[in-house]
Amino acid sequence: MTTSPDTAIASSGSLYAARPDIHVPAGFERNCAMGDTITLLSQPWAFLIVREAFFGARRFSDFVSRLGIPRATLSASLSSLIDDRLLETRSHSQGSAWKTYRLSQRGGELFPIYLGFVSFGDTWLTDGVPPLALYHASCRSWFSPRIVWAETGGAVDPRQIDVKLEDNYWRPRSAQEPRRRRIVKADGQMGMRACSMERLLSIVGDRWTFLILREMFHGNRSFQEFLDNLQIASNILSQRLQSLVDGGMIERPAAVGRSGYRLTAKGIDIYGPMILMKHWGDRWLMPQARPTMDFIDRASTQKRTPTVVCSCCGHTPEPLQTGYRGRDAGVFSI
Ligand SMILES: [Zn+2]
Repeated sequence: MTTSPDTAIASSGSLYAARPDIHVPAGFERNCAMGDTITLLSQPWAFLIVREAFFGARRFSDFVSRLGIPRATLSASLSSLIDDRLLETRSHSQGSAWKTYRLSQRGGELFPIYLGFVSFGDTWLTDGVPPLALYHASCRSWFSPRIVWAETGGAVDPRQIDVKLEDNYWRPRSAQEPRRRRIVKADGQMGMRACSMERLLSIVGDRWTFLILREMFHGNRSFQEFLDNLQIASNILSQRLQSLVDGGMIERPAAVGRSGYRLTAKGIDIYGPMILMKHWGDRWLMPQARPTMDFIDRASTQKRTPTVVCSCCGHTPEPLQTGYRGRDAGVFSI
């Protein structure tokens, strides 16, 4: 039987029968930096504040005016980002009580993830016109972010990738879930800037939704497999699967069976942003910055690393060299 490229990832059980990563052993969970990164970024407002810092917000009042965020919420969120070492504070001037907020190196390296979110959102979550136009000062061009393999410049495609697991890939399941405090309640509409990233976060920012998608990239597709691998309550699983179906990320074709799901083309495309999160998490959240899982190109058996490049010059844009213009707003300087 042959399968079309769009369905190959989840349409053939035998395709994944030999995968070492498909079944989570009882009492264990995936020791995966991707999950820990989304936990960090999916805190309400966190990534929106980081985004504004990429684009030059420094003062408390910058964030208030750009995001329309309540001051108490901003204060709590900034503290949390400082605790997570994504932001650092500096005194505005010597002896001054005024503080400015700057991205740490760790925070600044979230930029490719942001661009990856924009890339997905612009493709799938807009009416054809990206809400933000991005400008790369280095090559003096308006550009679209592209998620590629650093080694080859080729587009990332989960259907061409095998994984190599390290000895510490499985870790004993955490007794407590989630591990992080929630400092503010998510309230749907956030921020004031039209940006694809917010729409994407509303889909994958929910931790369970994200984990279900991750299971699908590991080759799982049935309700029972999600239950077994995630130890999730069945009513929550039903809800999240339905929201993924409603969002067009997965579908339940008759061919896969009554309880089977597969990723749509849109769902497959979320792979890029997800592996960018893994890449950042490997570097900043894992002991000795060592990945527990590597991506291996199936054809060449060579290791692959995701990155984001400018569609015009092929280089990875830095935050300070990237400007943007909103559809409804003026030009913001770099
Ligand atoms: Zn460029």
